[in-house]
Amino acid sequence: MKEEERQRWYEYNHQKYGIPLEYLKREFESELSGTVPIDAPLEIPDKMEIIYKYSYGQQSRFFRELRENKKIYGAKCPKCGKVYCPPRSHCPLCYKETEWVPLKGTGVIRACTVQYYTTSEFIKKLPFICAYVQLDGSDFLMMANIEVDDTSKIKVGTKVEAVFRDTRRGSITDFYFRPID
Ligand SMILES: [Zn+2]
Repeated sequence: MKEEERQRWYEYNHQKYGIPLEYLKREFESELSGTVPIDAPLEIPDKMEIIYKYSYGQQSRFFRELRENKKIYGAKCPKCGKVYCPPRSHCPLCYKETEWVPLKGTGVIRACTVQYYTTSEFIKKLPFICAYVQLDGSDFLMMANIEVDDTSKIKVGTKVEAVFRDTRRGSITDFYFRPID
């Protein structure tokens, strides 16, 4: 295709699908400039969008309690008495169905590291602390973010408390931990 036709092709697909022009030019330049053999498989741009929902299953109450009541719940085995947080529907040691128990939302850091690189969800919070927190009343560790101005304040053994966000979505990020002074 001629340069002018290529530009029209790029513009058409950019407008139609919202695909960035840089992407179209990078991915389709050789095709449009005629360097690909005429019998080679022809690739065309397209866009796929999927709206869906999924279920938290037997963990659902844990997330509803976060969103509705700003409460962290653990799951207690009626046989061995161990409390899981994050919750488990069944005790993996006894295979018994667990029961919901409210936790206070305080705990202690058992392991931690400072993050300087992350996904887009947390990029504005860099640097932040990623830690394994054992909540009071729980026998297990949960991975959590610690938000603190001075990262040097955080170490193994630091006591923390859960702080709930004003806008909660029924997600594990509805709360974070901060050190208790
Ligand atoms: Zn058990």
